[in-house]
Amino acid sequence: MALQIFNSLSQRLEVLEPIEPGQVRFYTCGPTVYNFAHIGNFRAYIFEDLLRRVLKYCGFKVIQVMNLTDVDDKTIRGAIAQGVDLTAFTQTFKNAFFADLKTLRIEPAEFYPAATDHIPEMITLVETLLAKGHAYRADDGSVYFRIASFPNYGRLARLDREGLRPGARVAQDEYAKDDAADFALWKAWDAADGNVRWESPWGPGRPGWHLECSAMSMKYLGPTFDLHTGGIDNLFPHHEDEIAQSEAANGQQFVKYWMHCAHLVVDGRKMSKSLGNFYTLRDLVEKGYTGREIRYLLASANYRQSLNFTFDALQAARSSLARADEFTERLATQAGAIPPGQPAPLPGWATEAGAAFRAAVENDLNMAEALAALFRIIHDGNRALDHKELSPAQAVAVQGVLADIDGVLALLQTDEVRPDAAVQALMEQRQTARKTKQWAESDRIRDELDRLGWVIQDTPAGPKLKRRPG
Ligand SMILES: [Zn+2]
Repeated sequence: MALQIFNSLSQRLEVLEPIEPGQVRFYTCGPTVYNFAHIGNFRAYIFEDLLRRVLKYCGFKVIQVMNLTDVDDKTIRGAIAQGVDLTAFTQTFKNAFFADLKTLRIEPAEFYPAATDHIPEMITLVETLLAKGHAYRADDGSVYFRIASFPNYGRLARLDREGLRPGARVAQDEYAKDDAADFALWKAWDAADGNVRWESPWGPGRPGWHLECSAMSMKYLGPTFDLHTGGIDNLFPHHEDEIAQSEAANGQQFVKYWMHCAHLVVDGRKMSKSLGNFYTLRDLVEKGYTGREIRYLLASANYRQSLNFTFDALQAARSSLARADEFTERLATQAGAIPPGQPAPLPGWATEAGAAFRAAVENDLNMAEALAALFRIIHDGNRALDHKELSPAQAVAVQGVLADIDGVLALLQTDEVRPDAAVQALMEQRQTARKTKQWAESDRIRDELDRLGWVIQDTPAGPKLKRRPG
């Protein structure tokens, strides 16, 4: 078996064959750090996290780069509106972004380069493009990429080049361009930029957004690398422009495989502030949902299909995880019943479901089927436990399969909130009260624990503390 992915460039499923065997170098368009990221953004980041984890599950070493766009119109406007430095303004949202990644159990990339730390590399790239005749200077000191100089332009987005003639797209500052479709590599400073400016051979200004990704991917991954991902809305013009700049400068293929994640909609509609259906991750956490529950929902749909976010679906994610937790606890109890001597062979149902999981993720990350395989293990495992057909040693073997699966999903570990010393002490007082039949005292302590957010479950193995949901 081999990992198959849908390459947006060829529009086909292809077996992933990295340039250097055994190692995948991949680049992910990261956030523009001017606000808190919303769940549509995180849908793409979860897809990329699943991809990263599937690559590792398939035995590849991964070098992943995710950029941070910390200079553009939006970050500059935000900083000016708050009356703070651009750096101070974006730092707040960089910190928030990394905290959010943690909440969603997204594994860190190897590199998170920030655009403002790579201005010299960007200037060098513009100089190369100018020298090779793929770029030109406008009167105001801006530099544009000349699309007419790059015959492959539009290949990724499958554009009709005629559609790119002047007049096709009009923006404010296009008077300076030779062709309306040409895009800025370097934007000359103007008063709206405040004190945000860098010196360059063409005068003060700042890099264009597309240029950032070309310069930084090249720096960390080389002129040609394996895989580039992003949301579908990045495909054009952003990724098309990245290809044009990089291939025009280096004279070689930029990226072998492109993967794009479809949109997220809320209640079947485009998410927007004006419709009142706009949610950041933080909004959902404030409503009492855990990162794990949100991760489950965002991971559950296949990445090339649009995902409909609803609160019903989030509740369903919560119940699915509760079912999974109940099973992993049952399994742990059985696994710990007697220390297993000899490792036991896996029951047939677990072998089959484990193989089904692998086949699903290797088939272009088919998460719907991957989750179905997980729930088959839970279903068959519960039945085997009900019928006392699972030995402790077999339970340990099933735990091994679940651990492998969870290397991809990162959903099965419960949220680690451990009771603190005070809660532990209350718990022991309650045990004493129960032993001496002081029921009123025992109930009082139970209420006290509930107030602190803990629920006691009395199990055959003794009482267990659980975090109260919500
Ligand atoms: Zn990008």
